[in-house]
Parts: sequence; structure tokens; C-alpha cells
Amino acid sequence: MYFRKELDMDSNFAGLKKILMKRRAKLLAALKTRKSERTDLRHGDDIDQAESAYEQEMSYIFRGRESDEIKAINAALAKINKGTYGICDNCGEMIGMKRLEAMPFVKYCVDCQEEFEKKREFETVMATSSWDEDEGENEF
Ligand SMILES: [Zn+2]
Repeated sequence: MYFRKELDMDSNFAGLKKILMKRRAKLLAALKTRKSERTDLRHGDDIDQAESAYEQEMSYIFRGRESDEIKAINAALAKINKGTYGICDNCGEMIGMKRLEAMPFVKYCVDCQEEFEKKREFETVMATSSWDEDEGENEF
């Protein structure tokens, strides 16, 4: 696994912290790029209206997803600093290294997550999207 080396090497999660901060910087950069693209769109008079509206809608959707991830990363970093990282927000049990390796910013243990998902569609984007460092940036 990609994170194993870093996670095993120190208990202060310094390696993981670095990875999370890198990921956050990447997301923030993506948000900025998208923002300037949106500004450019407004200046193009010959852009088909429907196309343009669709594009804007899509960028809102992805911006929402990225913002959620940034929030989750911030929360994870705060927990690392407080020394509570890896503990389920709901029941206080350890989340488990395997799960953290797959989703370093996850907030709940598997049991609580399943419980939430049964009740409502709770942060399903965060729960189901796997951690993918090399995810293509311009796939859509
Ligand atoms: Zn739990």
C-alpha cells in the first residue's frame, strides 16, 4: 500500500500529514483553476448558452465535492494535531489502519459509517470514493 511506509514509520502521522496537505494544496489549486475558467466563460459571447449552463453546473458539482474533501482533510489534520486521529467521531473506537490507509480523512469507523448510511445518505461521496492519488485531473 502507498501509505504503509509512512504510517509505520512514525506514530505522529507526520508522513500522512504531508500527504494530506499535499492533497489539499492540489484541491485548492484545482478550485482556483476552475474559478478562473468560470470567469473566462462569462467573456465568451459565442458560447452556446445551454452548453455554458451545463458546464457551470458541472463545475459547481465538482467544486462542492472538492470543498467537502478539503473540509474533511482539515478535520483530519486538526485531529492529528490534537492526537485524536484515527478515532471514530461517533463511538470513540479506533477506525483501523486499513481503512485509514484507504481513506486518510475518514471520520467514522466501518460500523458507524454503515449505520449512518442505512439511516440516510450521509456523506456518501466521502464514504464511497476511494483514495486515488493519481486520479486524472481533466477526465471530465
Ligand atoms: Zn464508530
